[in-house]
Amino acid sequence: MTRVFSYLDNQNQPFVGVEWQGKRYNFTLAWALYKQISLNNQGPDFQFVQMIIEMDLFHAETFDELFDTLKQYRSISDLLIRGPVQFKAPIERPQKIVCVGRNYREHAAELNNPVPDEPILFAKSPSSMVASGGMIRVPSDIGKVHHEGELAVIIGKSGYQIKASQVSEYIAGYTILNDVTARDLQQKDKQKGLPWFRAKSLDTFCPIGPYVVPANAIADPQNLGIRVTVNDEVRQDGNTRDMITPITELVAYISRYMTLTEGDIIATGTPAGVSTLASGDLIKIEIDEIGTLENNVLAAPPILSKK
Ligand code: ZN
Repeated sequence: MTRVFSYLDNQNQPFVGVEWQGKRYNFTLAWALYKQISLNNQGPDFQFVQMIIEMDLFHAETFDELFDTLKQYRSISDLLIRGPVQFKAPIERPQKIVCVGRNYREHAAELNNPVPDEPILFAKSPSSMVASGGMIRVPSDIGKVHHEGELAVIIGKSGYQIKASQVSEYIAGYTILNDVTARDLQQKDKQKGLPWFRAKSLDTFCPIGPYVVPANAIADPQNLGIRVTVNDEVRQDGNTRDMITPITELVAYISRYMTLTEGDIIATGTPAGVSTLASGDLIKIEIDEIGTLENNVLAAPPILSKK
């Protein structure tokens, strides 16, 4: 299993890390050494996962080649990351986060919504992102807030009107996203016929990561279990096989209307079992073959918005 992440070391320096053959390595340093050995010291340095994607190097083979080559020349034990790390969001600056509403039948039903006849698209602001381990800050006057555990697609190549048969060339990898939703605010805006952008885009309402797994390292993204626990109690327990519109069709559909570009994030919808979060809760979203996204909920000062 190869999984890639962004983290801060104890001096608050950003690095890219890779879990490779069961151990975590500092990829930023490993790549600098690899450049000296194999690339005549040419090419970029990598402090952010998104840069690896933009250089079209985000493939399981890149990491195999890197570490296999290094091991021929030197020990790689000095590149090991020891102890826990402080994760950063694995994508720094997505142009956009496109979300899909009601993509699981039972989730549409639990909120008394009809199953849509074509995908419902909405956006989350990139400024809502927070890393695994960070706090979901819930303003005290915002009303009910729900978790939504989701598989997220990371786009690897720019494309417009991508054919479903070619979508796999455009996906860099997969990660975990919590589409935290201010549900009362969303309902209020929906009833007025307004967009629900703000209810989805509060600061810290998009926990993401910690790992991005290269697309070709996942056997079948359409057969991954998604489990969400709140304080170790199971709330959501679904499988990506139950998506109404599968990933390849979703990516093709979105790209009919807008160019998707490197680092863009697509949240593919949530299974049934969304529930209300309270201050102090620990929420964990686990997706097979990818890992676990963990965040605590913290009460925050009121927004004091005018009616
Ligand atoms: Zn959602």
